[in-house]
Amino acid sequence: MSEFTVSGAYVLASCRYPYRSDVVVPRDDSPNRARDKGSSVHGMIANYINSGAVPEDGGPTFDCARAWIDANKKASWVAEPAYAWDPATDAARLLGVDINREYEARGKLPHEVGGSLDVASIEGDTVYVYEFGTGFDIEHKLAQLRLQCLVAARAHRVSMAVGQLVRFRDEGAYPGIPVTFGEFELAAIAGEFAEYLAEVPGSEPTPGEHCKRCNVAPICPVGRALIEQILPASALVKHQWGLEIQSADHAAWLLEQTRLIVAAADQVKNAVRAYVPEGGIKLSDGSMLIEGVRHVPRFDKGKALTLARGLGATEEQIDRCSYMASESSGVRVQKAPKAKVRKPRAA
Ligand code: SF4
Repeated sequence: MSEFTVSGAYVLASCRYPYRSDVVVPRDDSPNRARDKGSSVHGMIANYINSGAVPEDGGPTFDCARAWIDANKKASWVAEPAYAWDPATDAARLLGVDINREYEARGKLPHEVGGSLDVASIEGDTVYVYEFGTGFDIEHKLAQLRLQCLVAARAHRVSMAVGQLVRFRDEGAYPGIPVTFGEFELAAIAGEFAEYLAEVPGSEPTPGEHCKRCNVAPICPVGRALIEQILPASALVKHQWGLEIQSADHAAWLLEQTRLIVAAADQVKNAVRAYVPEGGIKLSDGSMLIEGVRHVPRFDKGKALTLARGLGATEEQIDRCSYMASESSGVRVQKAPKAKVRKPRAA
């Protein structure tokens, strides 16, 4: 199951399926430069806000973020506070600061939703929430910001929340317009997300723009059905190595694999032969690894022909010593002939 956290607000609002308990989320260890850069900049910003630490080479995005933070930071700012929100009671609590999203380890209960904020700051009866981004896609960040504001307001027991999205790029900082949520709006957000979460069990995939943010997309049944429509079924067949041949295509595939394996085995045999010196090499148990040599008599056709001609055999008599034999040259794939394309005649 992809456990729902506050950062999944955008996908959950449109599709509940990824959060079903029976949906297994595939691991994604693929390199992603944009994601890695975003995480690194977020880490440096959090450190800078909480401890004033400046990395040796933060890069231009961090430098722009730092300049914006220096101009706007208040003493009450806390970076990376982490919370647990209970959708049933609409109550929340602070789990800790900079806990690396390890919500369970800090006491989040199974029925609670975990979430971290880039910055929270309490001023009077209002919590100010900042969400930082380094990419262009801000729609999901805005969805997340609404839920973040609710969770922070409930945890700090304030009746108002102001959320602001700030994008940092190499060229500068781009603050969005702050959005204010009063008591009425916060209660509406709480009801909305409690309803979404109640709809998760048994839900079906609902495709749309949000799919690009979904981490179960590689195994989504809707996506798979579409791929099967676009690609021929044969292109999706994953052949297995073995003695049981399932189809002609499977047989051709096996043949290609045996060639690869034989070629690899030949290379290894050649490497071993090159390693063993003439006279052999002693093994740890005292036996010898040695190249064997056997002497076998071979028939020399050239010498036989010279002898036959020397004894007066004619070419016709020699020809009559040969006969046509048929033997297998092995199974191979014969490519289908290409359809001829006629060139249009010049007018
Ligand atoms: S990829 Fe599938 S499961 Fe994910 S959001 Fe889209 S429809 Fe829902």
